[in-house]
Amino acid sequence: MKKGLLLFLLTCLSLALMGQPKVKVVTSLSDLAEFTRVIGGDRVEVDNLVRGSQNPHYIDVKPSYMMKLKSAQAFVIIGMQLELWAPQIIDGSRNANLLVIDCSKYVHKMEVPGTKLDASAGDVHPFGNPHYWLDPENIRFVLQGICEGLAKLSPHDQEYFQSNMDSYLERLAQKIGEWKTIMAPLRGKKLVTYHTSFSYFAERFGLHIVGYVEPKPGIPPTPSHSTELISLMREAGVKVIGLEQYYEDNTPLHIAETTGATVVRLSTSVGGLEGTDDYIRLMDHNVRSLATALQ
Ligand SMILES: [Zn+2]
Repeated sequence: MKKGLLLFLLTCLSLALMGQPKVKVVTSLSDLAEFTRVIGGDRVEVDNLVRGSQNPHYIDVKPSYMMKLKSAQAFVIIGMQLELWAPQIIDGSRNANLLVIDCSKYVHKMEVPGTKLDASAGDVHPFGNPHYWLDPENIRFVLQGICEGLAKLSPHDQEYFQSNMDSYLERLAQKIGEWKTIMAPLRGKKLVTYHTSFSYFAERFGLHIVGYVEPKPGIPPTPSHSTELISLMREAGVKVIGLEQYYEDNTPLHIAETTGATVVRLSTSVGGLEGTDDYIRLMDHNVRSLATALQ
């Protein structure tokens, strides 16, 4: 065997043993970190920014976030301006090659405002409601976006990504069936939530959210709004307040006490509450807690 050929074969062997360099991805939310790992498997290295227990609309931007993006190939986000802080860290990273994977791309969007935005409203959802990942049927669109993005960075892994996506979706479809069965008897039931986090969830399972503890998305509760909400809940006979993991419970507990309602802690992100450390457990928790409270 020629020396050159032997050297070539040895190089190939050592490359195969060391493995391909992994695609470096940063994700905004823990949910996206899980989905990126599901699709990317051992071909990606994922670093996540916002913990499940944090309010993703507002985070303190740290220089370390920009450093993470600086050395990343892709940044996976929910989009629709959920991450109001994303442009700041993308600019700050000075990474001209960074691929931003916006997972809202294929999602049918809800609560999209009309042509004119009212700045005085203080609405944190100027491009529509971004909490689409809480409808489990939307996860296939999220995965599709991630899969396409990763395939751009590592085209020869496309089939691997696709097959990882397909097996997860199969597992998820089975769980969606279970969740629909649990929720079916509760169609038309009314509830109140703190923020507009559960619009897509409610739409999917036929629940009716009649009001919010916040006067407008992103605006903290006011006494006058709480008084209005109390009358509304009395009139409509609402007995459940869904409370996202990162909001204070003083106002909801006060409203619940006055109206005889129950406050149910829900999680909007993986790891937001104990026992919600992956997306399926997160949905299990939300579905079961709400089903118990609404019965
Ligand atoms: Zn929001």
